[in-house]
Amino acid sequence: MSRLVYMDNNATTRMADEVIEAVYEAEKSAWGNASSMHGPGREAKRLVEEARANVSRLLDCETDEVMFTSGASEANNTVFGIAEALIRKGEGNSSTGSRKTRIITTTIEHPSIMETAKYLRSEGLHVDMVPVDGEGRVDMDALKALLGPDVALVSVMTGNNEIGTIQDIEEISRLAHEAGALMHTDATQAIGKIDISCKKWNLDYLSCSGHKFYGPKGVGVLFVKRGAPMYPFVHGGEQESGRRAGTYNTAAIYGLGVAARIAKDSVSEEAQKLWAMREALRSGIEKTIPNIKINGSEAHMLPGTLDVSFGNVEGESILLLLDMAGISVSTGSACATGSLEPSYVLLATGVDVELAHGSIRFSLGRYNTMEDVDYVLRTLPPIIEKLRSISTRQ
Ligand code: PMP
Repeated sequence: MSRLVYMDNNATTRMADEVIEAVYEAEKSAWGNASSMHGPGREAKRLVEEARANVSRLLDCETDEVMFTSGASEANNTVFGIAEALIRKGEGNSSTGSRKTRIITTTIEHPSIMETAKYLRSEGLHVDMVPVDGEGRVDMDALKALLGPDVALVSVMTGNNEIGTIQDIEEISRLAHEAGALMHTDATQAIGKIDISCKKWNLDYLSCSGHKFYGPKGVGVLFVKRGAPMYPFVHGGEQESGRRAGTYNTAAIYGLGVAARIAKDSVSEEAQKLWAMREALRSGIEKTIPNIKINGSEAHMLPGTLDVSFGNVEGESILLLLDMAGISVSTGSACATGSLEPSYVLLATGVDVELAHGSIRFSLGRYNTMEDVDYVLRTLPPIIEKLRSISTRQ
């Protein structure tokens, strides 16, 4: 079989074998409706609750603060829906009494936040987007200037999916609460790579997704702090204490729980391994390929992410030639309406449009090895050299 070096783990991860087995077993033995009162229902419910306990340990929160969703996109939409409801109802700040009218987020959030924010704007709501610096770190002065008693929600991602920059969520949460706002973080990319604590960070909401940490796709979690405002996004049933309707996807939820248990037990070991491979890849690329820019913040970086802009070459061409060599990566570009738009994340960090077009994201995962890194380091330089030699973008 030809070689496959999968370095697109920020897009999705392969399910862990233990998770696949757990999902399979759950489908076979716990097919009842977890809301039913009879035996098969109770067995399904038992697995859902076991998963909830595993997730609460991973996120450092209470079990009744864990709500299962269809993924991080739904979790993010739910949080913005809560903020929208608070604003539309004209809720006040309990300490200052002033009305809530605004949401604050950043310029580099995932589309499930970005597009939701834009939608709410189009519906007449006020959403501010805090800029980031050249490394993708939130401009804290700009954030402080935007905060005020009229802010309903601050939503800042823990780690960026594209450039890997990690934010100081604990400090941002402190500032948000000082202003009387609720605090949400999209921790989808950070789970299993850095320690997460809803308690230490004093969060009101946190989103994450099973398929980014070797669990199933189509299942995620919204952490909702006890007592935090909650307005359901999906209506129609009493599941999740009336917070999210829909028959439990027992097997997927159970699989997510197993993935959460593994993530909790292996986070520091895994982070070290990912960081070592990422560093070997970064230094190897820097040594062998001229005219490049490493994006993100070296001091605040998700362990497995390496985003590189290559001058005078198209990211899509690199991706395709790497794919032909059995290496899976991604570009920062989104193919929107037939035209290739450069990544808004890179543009927000000040990378110029030309350079942004030549960007590749390598995202390492649990199943990568140093041999994979060596293979990429042997394969990539001649590809860049070849593409540059035929490039019209000089
Ligand atoms: N947030 C971030 C930071 C992500 O990387 C992703 C997935 N690319 C999502 C949200 C959406 O997750 P899901 O696929 O579970 O909807």
